[in-house]
Amino acid sequence: MAQVSARIANLAASETLAMSQKSNELKAQGINVINLSVGEPDFFTPEHIKKAAKQAIDDNFSFYTPVPGYLSLRQAICKKLEKENGLSYKPEQIICSNGAKQAVCNTLLAVVDQGDEVIIPAPCWVSYVEMVKLAEGVSRVIRTGIEQDFKITAAQLEAAITPKTRAIILCAPSNPTGSVYSKTELESLANVLAKYPDIIIIADEIYEHINYAGKHESIAQFENIRDRVVIINGVSKAYAMTGWRLGWMAAPQWIASACSKLQGQYTSGPSSIAQKAAEAAYLGDQQCVEDMRNAFMRRRDLIVKLASQIEGFKVNKPEGAFYLFPECSYYIGKSYNGKKIETSADLAMFLLEEGHVACVGGLAFEAPDYIRFSYATSDENIIEAMKRVKETLAKLK
Ligand code: PMP
Ligand code: GLU
Repeated sequence: MAQVSARIANLAASETLAMSQKSNELKAQGINVINLSVGEPDFFTPEHIKKAAKQAIDDNFSFYTPVPGYLSLRQAICKKLEKENGLSYKPEQIICSNGAKQAVCNTLLAVVDQGDEVIIPAPCWVSYVEMVKLAEGVSRVIRTGIEQDFKITAAQLEAAITPKTRAIILCAPSNPTGSVYSKTELESLANVLAKYPDIIIIADEIYEHINYAGKHESIAQFENIRDRVVIINGVSKAYAMTGWRLGWMAAPQWIASACSKLQGQYTSGPSSIAQKAAEAAYLGDQQCVEDMRNAFMRRRDLIVKLASQIEGFKVNKPEGAFYLFPECSYYIGKSYNGKKIETSADLAMFLLEEGHVACVGGLAFEAPDYIRFSYATSDENIIEAMKRVKETLAKLK
């Protein structure tokens, strides 16, 4: 019987990766598509990191690695947490995985039982809700809009908590909105969570270094919840290493041990070469991170300026990550050549097919009235893409 399990049948495919794939297919047909769908830095991995990887190959780092990752890498991560975040962790509390994606999924599989609820402030990254499904949990999405800069309030959080709440996933700087919680805002959320000692706080900090608001604030800094926070991070975004597949978690010991057990049966430790490269990233000069952040900030200013000039778009000023998330409901219900735009996914498809700009509809991020553009691309691409978007949307009546 050619039938997949209900688990996989019920799983949605990643919309970000799907739109990127479609854009690549059109490109292969010779169409000049500007791809603002998938979110990944357009920079090459810095030279000193590539050099460390080449050296690792020559030094025969070719054997299975310890399941949680090399001790030297976990020590380097502890140093980073101490120096940049003022947080003290032991190497045993760090588990390295195949990207931050696996670290999030490991955590959910380690703590969520069937029917447990996981609070997800939305707009949220595409994979959270699907990962909760894999863990047989139930997502409780908290809706926010552009009028509150896409950030949940303490009152909203309190209202979403039930006796079944097992975890919350907080992502800041946020994918897809770029919003960043201030220290005070995080503290007010921590104060609510402090009253519920069984809730695990998953803090996805993968965009830590792409922050235009100032110093990164981690919710793990608050002592009243510290022993229940799982920090998720990795080298994909800060060091332009998406393809190397190296992420990690810093977790309470019992969760770290559970994830190590899980990973030991499932994937083993991540790539030896990627780990040696990541070690060089954390121990080396951090100027490259600053240079990329500055480039992203310049592009942020550019895309905010251009998108604000597009009729019907409501745009915020993202303080981190590399996404713009305009409200676009003005266009829902309009038509072109007899074809009606019913959803923001239709709008994204229309922009791809008619305007040759790839982006992602908001539904994938639990925010149907919005659309996501990644601006991790050149200034020329941003200028041309926004010109095309403006002209293409003007065709909708
Ligand atoms: N969390 C968020 C919010 C992301 O945007 C991404 C990017 N894919 C990830 C986690 C996963 O990153 P990685 O490439 O390290 O798996
Ligand atoms: N996080 C990136 C994005 O949102 C990468 C794609 C993915 O893993 O979903 O586009």
